Amino acid sequence: MPELPEVETVRRGLEQRVVGRTVLAVEVGRERTVRRTSARQLVDGLTGATILAAGRRGKYLLCPLDTGDTLLVHLRMTGQLLLVPAGAPPLPHTHVVMSLSGTPGEQLWFRDPRTFGEMVVFDPDHADVEVPELAQLGVDPLADGLGVDDLRQLLATKRGRLKPLLLDQHVIAGIGNIYADEILHAARLNPDRPANSLHRPDVVRLHDAMHDVLAAAVGAGGSTLGDSQYVDLMGNGGSYQDDHRVYGRAGERCTTCGRGVIRRAVVNGRSTYWCPVCQRAPR
Ligand SMILES: [Zn+2]
Repeated sequence: MPELPEVETVRRGLEQRVVGRTVLAVEVGRERTVRRTSARQLVDGLTGATILAAGRRGKYLLCPLDTGDTLLVHLRMTGQLLLVPAGAPPLPHTHVVMSLSGTPGEQLWFRDPRTFGEMVVFDPDHADVEVPELAQLGVDPLADGLGVDDLRQLLATKRGRLKPLLLDQHVIAGIGNIYADEILHAARLNPDRPANSLHRPDVVRLHDAMHDVLAAAVGAGGSTLGDSQYVDLMGNGGSYQDDHRVYGRAGERCTTCGRGVIRRAVVNGRSTYWCPVCQRAPR
């Protein structure tokens, strides 16, 4: 599933290649992609609108339009936004096609084999009603800036363990399963550590790891795994998977300490990877 670095990579592509262009026509092939409203509402909301900017909150892409509305795109599991030449042969699972102004003629496609992703045009003045989960999103560690003291306060009030806390979009927005494991490993913190047991040096390491891992992953264009469909706007995969220290490496020796063997546990269908030497279990 695309996480903050992947969504940020797509956002940067939109900023470079799509912002400033006008949507000339929209076709919706799959209603599930527009399930929050309707195909008609997406077509009416986008046709003739100019995309003014490309923003991001957590895993949500938010593009303000010159109509006053905002286009929201959530890629969920397998969504892709692709910029393709007009007339390109259609790919399967392309659910929305937006024809853009400018030469050469190009289209913005929303592809999504598993159809969990969505697109919606909403009125930002009524976001609390139209997309209520946006108002409930936690702090975005890159877009909002998250200081050590902010993080310390966030953690001090939380019961529960570190890994599920990092995944909770209401607390910190944008981190998913891959980057939670990589961040905790870089911070030398066990995923089962109670969040409110961290001392200030632990919080500093977690804070630094969060910024370092996410920034490095954005720099690498995100992670493209064998089982995921993530590519950027131009259809290229990321390369940060080559830098994963724990995720997907169960049974391998930890390259950080050279002593631990990476472990994997599955809780609620999600894998957690960690090094038992770098990330000692809480007592
Ligand atoms: Zn290790």
